Amino acid sequence: MPLIAITDVRKRFGDNEVLKGIDLDIAPGEVIAIIGKSGSGKSTLLRCINGLETIDSGSIVVGDAQLGEDEAHLRALRLKVGMIFQGFNLFPHLTAGRNVMLSPMVVKGMKEDEAREIARRQLDRVGLGHKFDAWPDQLSGGQQQRVAIARALAMQPMALLCDEITSALDPELVNEVLAVVGELAREGMTLLMVTHEMRFARQVCDRVVFMHQGRVHETGAPEVVFADPRTPELKQFLGQSA
Ligand code: ADP
Ligand code: MG
Repeated sequence: MPLIAITDVRKRFGDNEVLKGIDLDIAPGEVIAIIGKSGSGKSTLLRCINGLETIDSGSIVVGDAQLGEDEAHLRALRLKVGMIFQGFNLFPHLTAGRNVMLSPMVVKGMKEDEAREIARRQLDRVGLGHKFDAWPDQLSGGQQQRVAIARALAMQPMALLCDEITSALDPELVNEVLAVVGELAREGMTLLMVTHEMRFARQVCDRVVFMHQGRVHETGAPEVVFADPRTPELKQFLGQSA
């Protein structure tokens, strides 16, 4: 049974059909890298999976929750799937710990003490237990992104979606964030990440999905896809990003 089953998903913005029938099944614990040119629909796909966008047709099932048009379904989906973005989006007026506590308290109605306990545990998990009381602007970009990961983990998601989470970081800060993601992968977290870090994709991911013009154009194990791309589009893409 896939944890996430995506079947013939289509999405358009006006005249622009951005997803042209996406089929993708993701097994529990699977780690998938989504690669492809800018504008190929990668972010839109992730946003559809966690219910930030509605889909025009097809279906997305996460666990046993079918994505429907209505708000209750979308909310349920957002609770099950965590998402982390390129910008860290921490609340600047809240400490690192308070940023992590917020959703469990507001969305799940958790008591403050329990939320604090969870926040401590998740900040520990990303190596920032000692930064509980730090303000976002006192943290490096890499540390802020790790807080954002802790914040997503605090909701105990079934899967994590990462959209170019290292793209805004200075090069020397990329590895500390990738190390955290690699550790989550080893712990068995289901991960779907849009990334330009080909070396990371090769080392950590189980499968690579190459998107081109709104379709899954080519997919396979990293050692196959990177060494022996079949389509001219993927060859060209890998040539450019090598
Ligand atoms: P990628 O993440 O691969 O760069 P996106 O999913 O962001 O691609 O975008 C795919 C296409 O959808 C682009 O042509 C983009 O302009 C368009 N698009 C994305 N979001 C919106 C939106 N909210 N409204 C209109 N067009 C959008
Ligand atoms: Mg994008």
